[in-house]
Parts: sequence; structure tokens; C-alpha cells
Amino acid sequence: MLRAAVIGAGIGGLAAALRLRHKGYHVTVFEKNDYAGGKLHAIEKDGYRFDLGPSLFTLPELMDELHQLFQEKVDFDYSSQETACHYFWEDGTQFQAPAQPSKFASKASEVFNEPKKNIGKYLENSKDKYETTKSLFLEKSLHKASTYLNRDTLKAIAKIPLLGITGTLDSYNQTFHNPKLTQLFNRYATYNGSSPYQTPGIMSMIPHLEIGLGTYYPQGGMHRISQSLYELADKVGVEFRFRESVTSINQKNNTVTGISTDHQDYEFDLVVSNMDIFPTYKKLMPDVKEPKRTLEQERSSSALIFYWGIDHEFPQLGLHNILFSEDYPTEFQHIFEHKTLFEDPTVYINITSKLSPEDAPAGCENWFVMINAPGDYGQDWDQMVKQSRKNIIAKIKKVLNVDVEPLIQTEYILTPQDIEKNTSSYRGALYGAASNNKFAAFLRHPNFSKIKNLYHVGGSVHPGGGIPLCLLSAKITADLIPDAQ
Ligand code: FAD
Repeated sequence: MLRAAVIGAGIGGLAAALRLRHKGYHVTVFEKNDYAGGKLHAIEKDGYRFDLGPSLFTLPELMDELHQLFQEKVDFDYSSQETACHYFWEDGTQFQAPAQPSKFASKASEVFNEPKKNIGKYLENSKDKYETTKSLFLEKSLHKASTYLNRDTLKAIAKIPLLGITGTLDSYNQTFHNPKLTQLFNRYATYNGSSPYQTPGIMSMIPHLEIGLGTYYPQGGMHRISQSLYELADKVGVEFRFRESVTSINQKNNTVTGISTDHQDYEFDLVVSNMDIFPTYKKLMPDVKEPKRTLEQERSSSALIFYWGIDHEFPQLGLHNILFSEDYPTEFQHIFEHKTLFEDPTVYINITSKLSPEDAPAGCENWFVMINAPGDYGQDWDQMVKQSRKNIIAKIKKVLNVDVEPLIQTEYILTPQDIEKNTSSYRGALYGAASNNKFAAFLRHPNFSKIKNLYHVGGSVHPGGGIPLCLLSAKITADLIPDAQ
């Protein structure tokens, strides 16, 4: 039986391992940590459970599809959410955004005094962009000639100039009269770690994923997503070697021969790296000529997260909550240009105990409090954490009219440095490279390599970061690999 190694048990690595197993390979996953899931991990602290990484689950059918390969069903229930997000501004404006286009348009029209027709049209365009481009940008390798020899792709390419990629997302979103609605739709740039003032207008397709196709909550929390993939892989015979760090990808005559780890050397017929593409080149194959333009791409934003056990319940909050900055352009300038944090940050609060009461003691809530942050460029994170904590508490006080400081029963903090340490993501980027230029999609590393039988999956390669895209990247990669027989 042909033998495949997967480097890393992140969501991309787990999905690739399952797909290779389905293709008949004997698969071994090497993971430096003692757990599977990478960024999709969780902790328990003082009676509270916290998902450490992703909080938004879209396109659950990609999870179903992986299980169906083995005639299995996803072993957790997931429910679609009526409300996509609760939005708050300092002047008291609140908007509970329905995750359904016509309801969204009606309600947003009332709250923001914007013609319903404009909002409906925006959401229809978002859907149109998504439907037109998904076959080109999300489902196939962008780097194979065969991709461009198909009717759907050619149609998508012909339509690209009409899709609003000439300006930035912010300039596209100026279509709204009310700046709050522009700000709300600008926020979708952060779904791939970019700035709305730089990322192209085509990113206005992202709202369709959430408002059109729906947002979901997995019972048991986001951690169930990575755990169910790990459990399935284990069940179907994928071998896991935890606490074993890969130190090199070995090759001869430009063909992969195996890997070395901090334990020993192994021979393999095929290797798939789920490690961030930057350290894959720099650390695992320092002698291989690197794709300079790809590795020099600006990294996506990172995050600073406070996990707070809160001794109180807040009926005005939902599962996803956003407290908007009063000055969004300056906030992004701080993150992407000054590589620092703005004093008036946009604060995201995710509370899974709203839907899974067992995640917090009775009468309490588990708050995941996140602000977008620059990657780690050697800043003084101790100082930045201290200052941001004060700024976040002040922001919550201004918006919700409550001082949460005395309500914090327990605390855990994750910085960009921690994210890099835990997962090897260069500079702690959440989504690999940023999409802050028109060519970003084409500059992402392909899912294959110039070295024969070496492949790449996960958030730092095509088609990009986030759970759905990582799952799609494993599918694209597996489609490039022949069956083992
Ligand atoms: P990773 O999860 O980074 O996994 C890589 C794995 O490889 C790790 O387990 C690492 O330990 C292992 N590894 C690395 N080097 C080696 C080596 N040399 N040897 C062995 N093992 C190695 N996405 C969403 O869809 N929705 C969200 O709401 C969302 N929010 C986020 C919030 C935060 C705070 C973070 C951190 C991320 C968020 N994301 C979100 C992004 C999402 O988590 C990632 O895009 C995705 O999980 C990346 O998966 P991956 O498989 O590419 O890599």
C-alpha cells in the first residue's frame, strides 16, 4: 500500500488525511502538539469551557461530505441561526442581523433608514459574485491549465470585470447612505484577515456565505468540528503521531522520499504539508528555491483574545456580538500600517453558553472577547495586552453601560505570539496571507509543489483561510493526487 505523510493535524491536515485514506493510502499524521485541531482547539478553566479559535461555522455540508466518504454521519447536531450577529454602536444603535436576505433587508432598512431595495440588491449581487466565482476561486487549483479549460471557469473569468474588483471593498460599500451600514459590510474583510480599505470589492461576496447560505452552531461548540474529523480519521485507520515535530521534508532527484522528525527518519511515497507555507519552506526545506513573491505576501491580521468567565448574564447579547469602533479607518491603519492596536477597538464577543449552557456555571457566561490585531513583529505584547484590556473594558462600558471588570471570574489570554507558538503560523496570522491586493488569490501557494509528490493544504495556501476554505483546500489537493491502487 502506498504510504502518505501529513504534516500537521489542523483542520486542513485532518481533511486531507481522510481524503487520502479514502483514496487507498496508508496515512500517518505527524502533529507537534498533543492534540488534533490546530487553531480549532478548546480549553476548560474554572468551570468554563472556551473554544480557543474559530467561532463562526458556515458551509456545514463540507463536513457532511467528508463523513459521507466513509458512509458515516457527522456525530454532532448543528443548527442554523436566525440571527447572524448582534451589532452595537456607541450612540445606542443596535441591529440584530437576520441570517436571511429578505429579513435582513427589511430590518436593516428600518434600523439604518436605507431603502430596502438597495440592501436587497447588494445581497443579490453578493450571491451572484459568490455563485459566479466559487468554481474558479474555491473549488479548483488556480494554478493548473485544466482549470481554465472548462465552460464555467471561462464564464467566471469573462464576468470578473463586472464584479466590482476595480475598487476597494470600502469604496464598493459607499453605495449605502448610512455609514453604519457601510461599516457593517466593511467588516466582512476581516473574515479573511484583510482591511476593507485595501481588499478588493469582490470580497462583497462574503456576506452571502453568512446571510444567504446561513450561519450554524455545532452542539458541543466549535471544538466538535475538529474532534469529529479526528475521531473519524482514527476510526478509518489513519495513524496519528502526536508530540512529534517534523524537522525536514526529504527528497531525491526532485521527488519526495520522506520526512524527518525530532524522533526519527521515515520513508513515504507522498507528503502533504498542513504547516504554514512560510515555515514549510524556511524550516523544512531550506535548500529548496522558495517562491519569493508568495512568501513575501503581506500576512493576514492576527487577534488578541481574552477568554473571560463572567459572573453575570446579559440578555441583550447573543452568540455573536460586535461593538463597533467609532473610527474604523484608523483602526485598520493601526493594524496594517502601524502594526499596533487602536485605543477604540471593534470588540467581538462570542458567548457559546447562550446555546450550550453547560459551557458556564449557572447564572454565568463564557465570553470570548477578541479584537483584530497585527501579527507579531516584535512589539511589546505585555504592554499592548495591558492597555487593550483597559480599552476593551472601557468600550464595553460605553456601549453596554456596564463595568465588566469586577464580573471577570477567570481569565485566559491568547496573543499573536501564542498563536504562532501553538500552530507555527508565521507572525500568528489567522488566515495565511492577507487579501489586501487584487492579485492575492493568484499569489497564494498552489496545493501542489515543484517537488514531485509534495502537496500543501490549509489556510496559508490556495484557496485561503477559514474552516470552509481549509476543507476545500483538502478537496482540491486530493483531486490532484491519483488513487493509491
Ligand atoms: P492550523 O490550524 O494552524 O494547523 C496546523 C497544524 O500543524 C497545527 O496543529 C500545528 O501544531 C501543526 N504543525 C505545524 N508545524 C508542524 C511540524 N513541523 N510538525 C508537526 N506538526 C506541525 N475561521 C473560521 O472559519 N471562522 C472563524 O470564526 C474563525 N475565527 C478564528 C479566530 C481565531 C482566534 C483564530 C486563531 C482563527 C480563526 N479562524 C476562523 C481561522 C481558522 O481557525 C483557520 O483558518 C484554520 O483553523 C486553519 O487550519 P489549518 O489546518 O490551515 O492550520
